Amino acid sequence: MSPLLDIIRTAIHHHGPMDIGTYMNMCLGHPQHGYYMTRDPLGAAGDFTTAPEVSQMFGEMVGLWVAHTWLQFGSPLNIILLECGPGRGTLMNDILRSTKNIPELTQAINIHFLETSPVLRGIQKETVGENVTWHDTLETLPDHAPLFVIANEFLDALPVRQAIHDGTSWKERLIGLDDQDNLCFVSGPAVPYGDMPWGRKDEIFEFSPARDFFVSNIAQRLKMQTGAALFVDYGHAKTAKGDTFQAIRHHQFCSVLDVPGEADLTSHVDFEQIARRAEQDGIAATNIITQSSFLKNMGIDLRLEQLSSKATAEQKQNLQTGYDRLTDKKAMGELFKAIALCHDKIHALAGFS
Ligand code: SAH
Repeated sequence: MSPLLDIIRTAIHHHGPMDIGTYMNMCLGHPQHGYYMTRDPLGAAGDFTTAPEVSQMFGEMVGLWVAHTWLQFGSPLNIILLECGPGRGTLMNDILRSTKNIPELTQAINIHFLETSPVLRGIQKETVGENVTWHDTLETLPDHAPLFVIANEFLDALPVRQAIHDGTSWKERLIGLDDQDNLCFVSGPAVPYGDMPWGRKDEIFEFSPARDFFVSNIAQRLKMQTGAALFVDYGHAKTAKGDTFQAIRHHQFCSVLDVPGEADLTSHVDFEQIARRAEQDGIAATNIITQSSFLKNMGIDLRLEQLSSKATAEQKQNLQTGYDRLTDKKAMGELFKAIALCHDKIHALAGFS
């Protein structure tokens, strides 16, 4: 039996059913047994594969976005380039490689990683080098220079909570124990959080104070430091009802309650809420577009052509497969969305106009 399951059971015995956000936090972030604390989950041998791991072209397009935005801001001599949840460091590596031909930008970049996993920090050190400052939270991030934020598949890992409609009102969906002491969903007290949509019996609505808090924090920093943030993740462009809380293990969906700490737990990101939150803090949000549109607007077709022209037949095939996975509607192209935030409305950010 997993040691984390025991810890969660004991917590429920002592304090009563826990909200899904608390459960997610324990499963992903428990210092000894949390999913991200104990392993490298990425790649074929792990549990899931992300866009930067699929093809170098993803990071190259993000690199172009950083370069373009930096130019728009008047090429500041010093910037803080923060990546949130950098995984294996592949995205940052591709960004740095693809911007190497602009030495003033390379000079200006100070790399900062927001990363809680000691295992992934170790891999990031190998990929990107020692010239990085790691942070557990945003609190320690310096604020003396313009801020550029990159986050791919980070927001989906921040805890989400759920409300379930009982026919009269929204009640929080909690995790409790059944007669056999197994984890199960139970209904809790009324949900006090924010504006809830109109609902019908048994409908589920997700909300994420953790994501709201994070976006708000970034927005306030952009306002103070100036700068821009780019978020790519799976999710919906319009706030919607529905249960998207999911567990993935060895590239397959499994039950969210089955193996606490052994599966990746995520939920779809409500991008409209990200925009709303940023705007509440006086920060401009771009329109929400698909990953496919973002990559195509940034020039991925041209890049594919360019790389293919110098490639062997096998490399060409790999490039095409990567391109298809990133942009195809049946793969990551449509489910994944992109949004950017900027301190200043007058900047039409690359990829979004
Ligand atoms: N961006 C990478 C990895 C995505 S996996 C890629 O695209 O390949 C999620 C990443 O977020 C991991 O690096 C994980 O350790 C990190 N992470 C998850 N929750 C976090 C939290 N609360 N604070 C900081 N990092 C977190």
